[in-house]
Amino acid sequence: MTGSAPEPAQVVPASEFAGVPDGFERLWTPHRMAYLRGENKPDDSSQGACPFCRIPTLSDPDGLVVARAGDAYAVLNLYPYNPGHIMVIPYRHVADYTDLTPGEVSDVAALTQQAMIAARAASAPHGFNIGINQGGVAGAGISAHLHQHVVPRWGGDSNFLPIIARTKAVPVLLGQTRVLLARAWPVTDGVRVDPSDPDGLVDGTPLGAGA
Ligand SMILES: [Zn+2]
Repeated sequence: MTGSAPEPAQVVPASEFAGVPDGFERLWTPHRMAYLRGENKPDDSSQGACPFCRIPTLSDPDGLVVARAGDAYAVLNLYPYNPGHIMVIPYRHVADYTDLTPGEVSDVAALTQQAMIAARAASAPHGFNIGINQGGVAGAGISAHLHQHVVPRWGGDSNFLPIIARTKAVPVLLGQTRVLLARAWPVTDGVRVDPSDPDGLVDGTPLGAGA
């Protein structure tokens, strides 16, 4: 190793490991263990236990924050349905859409538009699912703090994995996705975006689309 340059990752042939191939492919998803163990899931509905209140206090790379407006912010979902799965969230710990202030409604709407523009520039999705799961019964994982999902969709991005294994294949790492989206974000008045890439996650090559 010379200087401070990191060594490139080594790819070790599978034949060098123990075992006999059995005709099945393996999709290793260790990041999902945190989800299965319930990490980041609030113990209760209070503001102190809420990850959506904590995220804005972190740096943009640490929190996977893509953009910040005055009354709301955009962040990558730690458990994405698809690459580039963004959530637009008011800073205020508020559960119901009808309780948003006019400023929060405006920022949530504007950031949603900007998320679509950035996603199209970064990875050319064919469509989007956009929406709010209002309440736990409707599917909200963290129902105490409103969040709007913006999920890019590509033709053929659904396969058998979610159906038989409750698993989504996501080919792009979250840190890389954050940098790509931040660089593609249409910055407007009052919106701050941090496109820095302190860990050198993006080498300039578009990271493609589709699952
Ligand atoms: Zn909250």
